[in-house]
Amino acid sequence: MPVFLNTSAADFEQGFRAMLSAKREDSSDVNDAVTAIIRDVRARGDLALCELTARFDRLQLTPATLRFTPEEIAAEVARVTPEDRAALMLAAERIRAYHARQMPEDASWTDPEGATLGWRWSAVSAAGLYVPGGQAAYPSSVLMNAIPARVAGVERLVICVPTPDGIINPLVLLAAQLSGVDEIYRIGGAQAVAAMAYGTDTIAPVDKITGPGNAYVAAAKRQVFGRVGIDMIAGPSEVLVIADGDQNPDWLAWDLLAQAEHDADAQSILITTDPAMAQAVAAAVDRIIPTLDRAAIAGASWRDYGTLIVVRDLAEAAALSNRIAPEHLELCVDDPEGLAAQCIHAGAIFLGAHTPEAVGDYVSGPNHVLPTARSARFSSGLSVMDFVKRTTMARLTPGALAAIGPAAVRLAASEGLQAHGASVQARLGTLNERLTE
Ligand code: NAD
Repeated sequence: MPVFLNTSAADFEQGFRAMLSAKREDSSDVNDAVTAIIRDVRARGDLALCELTARFDRLQLTPATLRFTPEEIAAEVARVTPEDRAALMLAAERIRAYHARQMPEDASWTDPEGATLGWRWSAVSAAGLYVPGGQAAYPSSVLMNAIPARVAGVERLVICVPTPDGIINPLVLLAAQLSGVDEIYRIGGAQAVAAMAYGTDTIAPVDKITGPGNAYVAAAKRQVFGRVGIDMIAGPSEVLVIADGDQNPDWLAWDLLAQAEHDADAQSILITTDPAMAQAVAAAVDRIIPTLDRAAIAGASWRDYGTLIVVRDLAEAAALSNRIAPEHLELCVDDPEGLAAQCIHAGAIFLGAHTPEAVGDYVSGPNHVLPTARSARFSSGLSVMDFVKRTTMARLTPGALAAIGPAAVRLAASEGLQAHGASVQARLGTLNERLTE
């Protein structure tokens, strides 16, 4: 049964805290298994990749068949229907247009002392994009990872995607093609992450690994962090829908179930000012679940983590939303912009009754790789910024060094770092000599 809460009830705070702290992913033993897999890939390279792929994905590979050939990609892509191709191209265009606006600008200025200062952005050289493929195919995730990387200017893009029993969704390869990625390996899980981080004879290592995946992928990304950069740990999906009493309960039920059908560990929450709306949405969810192809997954998610909260007013809803810090936040209210201004912790906000979250999974433009498990309090969804880094720049004239160098000498002395101070003092001495000549 989903949880029903009412902020007017005496035990509300207790129930809300229990809901917030409910553990939604169990990764016991996963870490040890992942450590062993990474060690194996580092030691035995391609051979380990082939053996692990046979074990987990039931696919016999050799080092020569780890990578999709151009002919294999072309043959798969040819199977895509014109309708699917058109939809994917629309998505790609919209995602590209959105992310093009995110590119940050370099800066440079000269201060009154004569120091020219600034910063410069440059792309990582090589990025590895993990595309999940164990239980479902995610062409949309290919676009969401590869397009920001391309916009940032990443030169080498690598995709790893598991192909259980050798089956690949051709749309995944078309999405890669549309994003200009042709280095695609048919491997998944922790072994794919290890291969991209450490490299093998066949796969050159990358500098940054991005993309969602299951618990093994998430644990592997954590373990290789430092050797390579990672984007974030994106866990089971979540949606919070805030609705007033003037909504279509069926629409809201579909939105809650769109998240629940992802994963038994997904979480869907409704906050409403209208107790009758809460009841109507709960009834609609119960009616719809048995009709879903993924009824078992959606049903388990709704039963274990589904939550309906009745609040006194929308200000109270915003305050609770900020405590939840949801991955996805839907505002189905009269003045969504006004409410959004109060909701400061959320990965992505969908404003108004005609902006279902699912449209953001595919075609609206913003990225669908988003922070989960309350990490929207301090982090953001995948963006161009994940594929660039900032280098600071400084150039001093002799006059600038004369003006600010003595303070550096003093501070170096206070830290006991003799060579630091001397490197500045030597130049200041030369400047003084020149001045007295
Ligand atoms: P996956 O590609 O993440 O994982 C499949 C791989 O897991 C296999 O190739 C195998 O190597 C490894 N594995 C499976 N069982 C193992 C075991 N017992 N020991 C060691 N390794 C094992 O695909 P998936 O399983 O379908 O999971 C995809 C996940 O990604 C889902 O949880 C989904 O919700 C999530 N997802 C998130 C987003 C997002 O943007 N946040 C998008 C798409 C998918």
